[in-house]
Amino acid sequence: MGFFARELQRLQPEKTPRRWLFVPYDQLSDSIGPLSREKPDKLGIILVESPWKAGLRPYHKQKLALILANLRHFALEQALRGVAVKHIVSREPYHKALKKLLPELGPIRAMVPAERELRVDLQKLADGGGLQLIPHEGWLTSRKLFTAGAGQDPPWRMDSFYRRVRRDTGILMRNDKPEGGNFSFDKENRLPWKGKPAPPKPPVFPRDPVKEEVGELIQKKFARHPGVLDLNALPGTDKDAEALWSWARIFCLPQFGPFEDAMTLESRGLFHTRISALMNIHRLLPARILSDAVKAALPLASKEGFVRQVLGWREFVNHVHVATDGFRDLPKKPPPVDASPGDGGYEHWAGTDWKSEKAFKETDGGAAPSALGCENPIPPAYWGEKSGLACLDHVVSTVWEEGYSHHITRLMILSNLATLLDVRPREVTDWFRIAYTDAYDWVVEANVLGMGTYAVEDLMMTKPYISGAAYINRMSDYCSACTFHPKTDCPVTALYWAFLARHEHKLGHNPRLRMPYASLKKRSETRRSKDRIIFRILRDMLLAGEQITPIKINKYQ
Ligand SMILES: Cc1cc2nc3c(=O)[nH]c(=O)nc-3n(C[C@H](O)[C@H](O)[C@H](O)COP(=O)(O)OP(=O)(O)OC[C@H]3O[C@@H](n4cnc5c(N)ncnc54)[C@H](O)[C@@H]3O)c2cc1C
Ligand code: SF4
Repeated sequence: MGFFARELQRLQPEKTPRRWLFVPYDQLSDSIGPLSREKPDKLGIILVESPWKAGLRPYHKQKLALILANLRHFALEQALRGVAVKHIVSREPYHKALKKLLPELGPIRAMVPAERELRVDLQKLADGGGLQLIPHEGWLTSRKLFTAGAGQDPPWRMDSFYRRVRRDTGILMRNDKPEGGNFSFDKENRLPWKGKPAPPKPPVFPRDPVKEEVGELIQKKFARHPGVLDLNALPGTDKDAEALWSWARIFCLPQFGPFEDAMTLESRGLFHTRISALMNIHRLLPARILSDAVKAALPLASKEGFVRQVLGWREFVNHVHVATDGFRDLPKKPPPVDASPGDGGYEHWAGTDWKSEKAFKETDGGAAPSALGCENPIPPAYWGEKSGLACLDHVVSTVWEEGYSHHITRLMILSNLATLLDVRPREVTDWFRIAYTDAYDWVVEANVLGMGTYAVEDLMMTKPYISGAAYINRMSDYCSACTFHPKTDCPVTALYWAFLARHEHKLGHNPRLRMPYASLKKRSETRRSKDRIIFRILRDMLLAGEQITPIKINKYQ
């Protein structure tokens, strides 16, 4: 018996009649739901470790470690409070694992999971009467508020939802007016970072026997999963979660706003808080994060910028996820749904079929809309092969090292380049879901399909988020480390123009793209033809896993 099993046995309260609650891996909090109000000695919780779920996709090792370490520590923390803990390891879907416990434990309750994949799984047990689903208490806003702010039907806009939420909740409002006179200070929050102020070093967390055991388990049983496992960077306990938030409050929030869109080789997170992975599993509660941020003494642009992320964007993307049933219920026609979970390009890169060892009958691969008809595979560069584009290579390497990168690197490097290369949006989504420690369907699909790749047209965003080298050079120092020059031979700029030209029939009438299309018209036919050639060469070389160099493409410039 290992350390965790022994500790759990030691702390386990005496066996008395209990009401049992299934706590999914992303609801690890005793400040919401029945755990927050029912007596510990009357309550039992079921925690499931699922190699089946972990094997559905080639998830980053750090993501597996984050979930397992927090789940195990949560089990011990609850046992210490007097809650009975049933911890099981299951190699089958959750509804089957829980069904087997019914004769012993009686009816089970669970808060509705945020993740659709788990909702569908659990619904099978709920339909048979073995599971009672109760509302999820982790969200900050209701569906009614979403509809009141963003409207009943799409297109939905975050800004109108957010303004309505601010008005209704009174957060950052004074005499019915937004503090500082504006609901958003986004325009002030677009500074590049030029070396000052110094960004904080990411926090490290104490190692402990539970984390060590999880680390050993992953190296042994999940060795073929990609990514670096770093136990020093692994928050696992409730104290770790507190330490992370305290670090973020002190060192990140005061500078959060102005440098929100900046990217640099010198700091991976700049002043971003790194809290998403813990907030998405409820080790940090959104309500508490929000209330602390509102109370903190911060410059208004930073405070509002942060509040908009947590109260605005995070809530908004979840509402869109629910309202569209995970992007399956779209206004024009339902998109195709992939038959089984995608591997985000793992097989193309690794040359081995991830799926061959697994049975995927129990779950599909999610909605696969592609409004622009993009169907290319994701290049091996996203799995760590060098592309020769310094911006892409840098961000990808940090993601495989940490399972994290901040918002603008996700949007304007990874998603931007995939979009410019016409990569299939579902494959991009799967890649993000696999590579990031904070990714679950409800949040990653909205951000990739809805925001990053324009796969669902204007459902959430008014235009695609794309850029050439000018933006990347303005907002980062990546180009200083590149063999290409952003003003002369950078192929990303050619990709940008080629993208606009290729998709003109779909995007040419978009009022938000009037300026770029006016500029495209001024581009000579020779130039446009070179753009097309560079797109084809880059696409083919990157798909073949080849590195791009100025010598290879400059003759086409
Ligand atoms: C292509 C793409 C994929 C993304 N995938 C995910 C994902 O899988 N999981 C995820 O949590 N976020 C995702 N995001 C949103 C955002 O990038 C991350 O929430 C953020 O980078 C997390 O880092 P942080 O905690 O340092 O955030 P900070 O910049 O410090 O922001 C604070 C918090 O605001 C919330 N937030 C901010 N923007 C968003 C948003 N667009 N959607 C949801 N929450 C938001 C997060 O909870 C975040 O922790 C994605 C964005 C893009 C463009
Ligand atoms: S020059 Fe181009 S490819 Fe190189 S880092 Fe800058 S934008 Fe990226």
